[in-house]
Amino acid sequence: MQAERVYLDHNATAPLRPAARAAIEQALAFPGNASSVHQEGRRARAIVETAREQVAALFGVDAKAVTFTSGATEAIATSLSPNLEIDGAQVRFDVLLVSGVEHPAVLAGGRFAADKIEKIPVDGEGVVDPATLDRLLAQHHAAGRRPFVSVMAANNETGVLQPIAKIAEQVHAVGGILHSDAVQAAGRLPFDLAASGADLISVSSHKLGGPQGAGALIARNEDLRVPPLMRGGGQERGRRAGTENVAAIAGFGAAAEEARKVLGSEAVRLAGLRDAAEKGVQAISREAVILSAAVARLPNTLCFAVPGIAAETAVIAFDLEGVALSAGAACSSGKVGPSTALAAMQAAPEIAKGAMRVSLGWSSREEDISRFLDVWKRVYLNLSQRRRERAA
Ligand code: PLP
Repeated sequence: MQAERVYLDHNATAPLRPAARAAIEQALAFPGNASSVHQEGRRARAIVETAREQVAALFGVDAKAVTFTSGATEAIATSLSPNLEIDGAQVRFDVLLVSGVEHPAVLAGGRFAADKIEKIPVDGEGVVDPATLDRLLAQHHAAGRRPFVSVMAANNETGVLQPIAKIAEQVHAVGGILHSDAVQAAGRLPFDLAASGADLISVSSHKLGGPQGAGALIARNEDLRVPPLMRGGGQERGRRAGTENVAAIAGFGAAAEEARKVLGSEAVRLAGLRDAAEKGVQAISREAVILSAAVARLPNTLCFAVPGIAAETAVIAFDLEGVALSAGAACSSGKVGPSTALAAMQAAPEIAKGAMRVSLGWSSREEDISRFLDVWKRVYLNLSQRRRERAA
């Protein structure tokens, strides 16, 4: 009999939570456009508004601050706008500063022209250095340019957390605005938007156990308005046109609520499992390098590399043995290219080529870690034998 598969790729997408599945099924059972005035429409509207409350609660904001989108990519593309309405006034931003470890959705720069996008360097652990950011901000400030800054809360590959509150202070001191890609932090660590200092965040349903194809752009308050990217009907109070994906939104809301209920205890549980995986990897392969181990990371993420072992080969070997994990940034279209985040960290080519990511979540169990380590023992022996043969 084939052993059950072990899924260790929650940062790519998390399995659907049972509560999310139930909410989706319930929503799909009835027709209804959330903009229609009849009973069916009102029912759909109620589903969307319940989900809005559930998502808002995860970030400690008013439900009105949440605009549903088709996912984080759309929320990010919408957010990164050179023109915003703040407290009723039109404010123009001259330059977009993004950290070097951002997801491609942010690196693409939204509605900023390519020559207005600048990278904020990170240190060797992948963290934005406040002194470097200060220098950059001061340069732009002196030249009379107002900055729009985007720094992610947690990195998808290494799990590294950025000092968002400190960055927000620095950005606000020069009249700038801060967007944070909170996709990986959401539902994994407490994230109160007001306490974080960020003005805008983008989040995704499928990273926290909701369905794919739903996400949200969340503003610190109602008085911060981002011009819509999708124009058409007046859905989402004019902030995002298009008939709401009621079922996906329902699933997103249910997943957000589940995540919120166990936020603290899950973080502790997953850190325990992750640490066990990390210790196991170090015991099996002593030369393994744990990326960003010296700084604060998400509790669910382990990124490691063994010089001379290509992640691509190891990930295929894991897959054949029933374990799903990722090589580098597997967020984009299944291709395994060089990771821009690891390049920004100036990781040695051997390490960047070998970086493998184990990411855990609500469905992860102790047995998963045992299976992962069991398989790693074999994969490591095999591939390090080949590495020796190559070197001989
Ligand atoms: N930002 C980060 C950090 C991610 O890991 C992802 C994942 O793909 C995205 C943005 C894009 O999210 P979505 O799949 O909802 O468009």
